[in-house]
Amino acid sequence: MWHLDEIFNDLTVVAIPTRTNFRGVTIREAALFRGAAGWSEFSPFIEYSDAEAEQWLYAALEGANTPWPELKRSSIGINATLPNVEIDRVPEILNRFPGAMTVKIKVDDFENDCELVEAALDFNPEFKIRLDVNGGWSLETALLNLYNYYLRFGKVFEYIEQPCLEIADLKELKKEIPMKIAIDESVRKALTSDFSSAKEFADIAIIKWAPSGGITRANKLIEKIGLPAVISSALDTGIGISHGLALAASQSDLGFDCGLATSSLLESDVITPPLEITAGTIAVHRTSLDEKLAAKYLASADRRLWWQNRIERIWESGFGERWQSEQRN
Ligand SMILES: [Mg+2]
Repeated sequence: MWHLDEIFNDLTVVAIPTRTNFRGVTIREAALFRGAAGWSEFSPFIEYSDAEAEQWLYAALEGANTPWPELKRSSIGINATLPNVEIDRVPEILNRFPGAMTVKIKVDDFENDCELVEAALDFNPEFKIRLDVNGGWSLETALLNLYNYYLRFGKVFEYIEQPCLEIADLKELKKEIPMKIAIDESVRKALTSDFSSAKEFADIAIIKWAPSGGITRANKLIEKIGLPAVISSALDTGIGISHGLALAASQSDLGFDCGLATSSLLESDVITPPLEITAGTIAVHRTSLDEKLAAKYLASADRRLWWQNRIERIWESGFGERWQSEQRN
C-alpha cells in the first residue's frame, strides 16, 4: 500500500485525450485526490522538474484541505481558447465556448497565424482578441509581427500575452506598441522576483491557481505584482478548474474574462456536476470526481506509479515535513 494514502485519499490518475494538439500535449494526465475540504488536483506537465512541481503540490494540498475563502461572485466570465489548429477547425473549437466574448489565440508569427485571427473574427466579429506568444519573439520580431497585426486588424486586440521572455525586451516593446502587454511566463517562472517595476513592462498579470501554489499564495502574488489580474489555468480537469474559479471569485476587482474554460479542449471532463459554459460564464462550485468517467479515463498502472513516485519524491525532499508542520501551526 502506498504510504501517503492518508494524505492523498482516493488518489486517482486519469489520462484524458485532448481535442487538439495543445503545445505538444495530446493526452492530459492528472492525479486527483480528496482531503477534508474536497477534491483536488495535482497535474504539473510531465516535463516539469520536481522543483517546479512543488508549487503545484502545495496548491493541490491546499485545495483538498482548506475551505475556499469568501467568494465575491458566483460566476466567472471566461474566454475561449483557440490553439494553433487548421483553419477549418476554428468554428468547431470556438463553438465549445458558447457566449464567450473574448478569445485567446496561440500564435507563432503573423505570416502563418493571421488567418487564425481572421477566422476567429469571422466566427464572431465582436470578439476581443488576445494573442498568446508564450515568450516566442525577440524584440525585433515582436515589433514586426505586432506592427503587421495592428495594420491588418486594428484595435481588436485586448492584449498580447508574453510576446517576449526578457523583461528588458518587454520594457522596450511596451514603449513602442499601442497594445497592452500581459505577462504569464514572467510571473509563473519567476514567482520570487520582486515585481516592483512590473508597470514598466506589463499592464496585466496572468495568474494560475496551480503554479502559484493555490489560492492564498496566488492572492499574495497578485497583491505583490500590483497589476490587474486575469485568472487562468493549465489545461486542468474540472477539479483544478473549480479551484481556479474560486480564486477568480475571491477577487475584489476582476475586470477581464478568465482562462478557465479550457476543459472544453479535453475530449471529456471527469467531474460531477459538470462545469457548463452559459452565456460566456461558468458558475463557481466545488466539483467531485465522477466514478464512471474516472473509470473510463483511468491511467495505466505504470502511469499511476509514475505519478505516485513523483509525489513521493517531492514529499520526501523536505516538502512533506514543511507542509505538515505548517498544518500543525
Ligand atoms: Mg500564456
